[in-house]
Amino acid sequence: MPSPIAHSLMGCLIARSSSQPYFEKPWQLLIFCAALANLPDIDYFFGIAQGAPNLYHRQFTHSLGFAVLIGLACGLFFKIRGRRFWPMFYLAGVSCFSHVVLDFFGNDTSHPLGVVALWPFSSAYFMSPVPIFSNLLKGDTLVELLKAVFRMHNMAALLWEVVVFVLLLSLQNWHMKNRFALTTMVKRRAPSREHTEGAQGVREF
Ligand SMILES: [Zn+2]
Repeated sequence: MPSPIAHSLMGCLIARSSSQPYFEKPWQLLIFCAALANLPDIDYFFGIAQGAPNLYHRQFTHSLGFAVLIGLACGLFFKIRGRRFWPMFYLAGVSCFSHVVLDFFGNDTSHPLGVVALWPFSSAYFMSPVPIFSNLLKGDTLVELLKAVFRMHNMAALLWEVVVFVLLLSLQNWHMKNRFALTTMVKRRAPSREHTEGAQGVREF
């Protein structure tokens, strides 16, 4: 499964694609999306309380249903403050569900494999037959989990995640640049209403 680094970078990609007006500073939006993109792994804490971090991992928090609930909660929070509900619902829901998508493309080696992506509609576990991200060696106790950060296998997996996201960020930059260039070109070519009416007026006289 991808690490928090991959999930945070995915949150950054979503934040850069968003044009929402809810946060004054771009970094606030980045942190919001990155935090929600990591939120499903909150289920580690349910297990840590019992000395086994993996005990409840990849269950209902890794699902469409959970992402919708988070979207609803965030949408309502902003609605109460006089903002529009739907843009925040989409932003929060997509950020949260991006975690499920990334985990789906992770190489899972512990049963049950994958995530319950479609809960509550289905309790089946789903995992991509062609994983993009390597599995992380974590261990079953909190101490093993902390030690695992420095294992060579995990270091290589993290490096690969950074490579994937550098590519994705480059693609996003290229797309944004092209879209901006296209918009500018269309604006230049389309005659303004005022100009068109003026031209018609000249012809009539
Ligand atoms: Zn996860």
